[in-house]
Amino acid sequence: MTQTDFIGRLQANVGADIVLRAADANLDRHSRDFLNVMRDDVAILGVAYPRTAEQVSAILVACQADEVPVVPQGGLTSMVGGPVPTRSSLVLSLDRMRAIEEIDEAAGTMTVQAGCILEMVQRSADEAGFFFPLDLGGRGSAQVGGLISTNAGGNRVLRYGMMRESVLGIEAVLPDGTIIHSLNKMLKNNAGYDLKQLFIGAEGTLGVITRAVLRLYPKPLSTNTALLAVADYTRLLALLQRTKTAFGGELGAFEAMWPDMYRLGTVALDRQPPIAIGHGLYILIETLGTDPERSPVQFEEVLGSMIEDGLAEDIVIAASERQRQDMWAIRDCPGEFSKMFWPQRSYDISLPTGAIGDFVTRCTAALRERWPGIGTAFWGHIADSNLHLSLNLPDPDGAALDKAVYEFTGAYGGSISAEHGIGSMKRAYLHYSRTPEEIATMRLLKHAFDPKGIMNPDKVI
Ligand code: ZN
Repeated sequence: MTQTDFIGRLQANVGADIVLRAADANLDRHSRDFLNVMRDDVAILGVAYPRTAEQVSAILVACQADEVPVVPQGGLTSMVGGPVPTRSSLVLSLDRMRAIEEIDEAAGTMTVQAGCILEMVQRSADEAGFFFPLDLGGRGSAQVGGLISTNAGGNRVLRYGMMRESVLGIEAVLPDGTIIHSLNKMLKNNAGYDLKQLFIGAEGTLGVITRAVLRLYPKPLSTNTALLAVADYTRLLALLQRTKTAFGGELGAFEAMWPDMYRLGTVALDRQPPIAIGHGLYILIETLGTDPERSPVQFEEVLGSMIEDGLAEDIVIAASERQRQDMWAIRDCPGEFSKMFWPQRSYDISLPTGAIGDFVTRCTAALRERWPGIGTAFWGHIADSNLHLSLNLPDPDGAALDKAVYEFTGAYGGSISAEHGIGSMKRAYLHYSRTPEEIATMRLLKHAFDPKGIMNPDKVI
């Protein structure tokens, strides 16, 4: 009853077009992310679609006064349940804050509202003669606010870093309604605490990001892509060193795929494999060069030497943009797992790069011993020490699988989250990767910003 009153009062305060009652909202959209669905015993009280930071502020003031939990949502491409309510809450969607407000050519920056979709950022940067490098499979839905809140990674971290490196400034609203304008455009600014860093990767637990200043880069003038096959992980490491030395800062991607995953991305989807099935490991390499004449020639020379020196067993260089996209489609096949590798349990971990080969071998053996018939798929941004794995069982015991994978990860000194965040899915396992003192300090911050615990509760810590 009180909750119904709450939505009514909120409507009177910020407008009935801004706050929808649950009965009038698209609850199906707002109750799930890419992999997780809201529990049946949880209710969405209403959905707010603010257009300005001032409206976000008014909404948070009301939520704090009535101690109503509020769950910020972007494009809902999360894999770990970050935007899925776990208790009866108001959903705060950034869907209506999509504007690109400014491109500053001299500063090399783009100022956007938090609901702006990644693909729009990439396209607008391109049209203005710049390059926005962050890229991932969810580019058509993922929003800037969510990408910042989760410090998203993706396929070009090796060269350009994670989302954190591309954020120069933000505007955020605290749970008490305070609006922090920190829309810095400068690369250098050491005037006190760098407050934006607190919100990057906080998964909406400290406040709501409403705008951001993004860093733009010069356009690469030559993109060169190849698929390679190697016999084993030792050769992959040697090849990684060789490519880093040869290409330096031009190396844009170094993506490894183990045979189980390569098979899923090719023959399981009725696609002709560019390199035959049967090799030990497959690698997708891409350089982003500055010289359209010289870069492709050097690319071919360096890769050719890999064959001559016995590092690589086979190489296919993409001869067209179409071939390049076909290669990336193999790497991006996890987006199609629902067609042939389902139900799946998905993991995103980081491990010391040198240990990843051994981890895959031993983890696979341990999983198969305990769950005979389990399907596995391993791939990763190896140069970023980031391994992904998906497990396929007809009737998966999620908690038991999680525990097995994360205990293994902890034993190798790895992290239970490389780029997907913690959300609600990994919260119970945070202690595998963070010390008690680190977790206590996170709680201290959380309490200082959000003493009533209304901001995206049950997430991260
Ligand atoms: Zn990834």
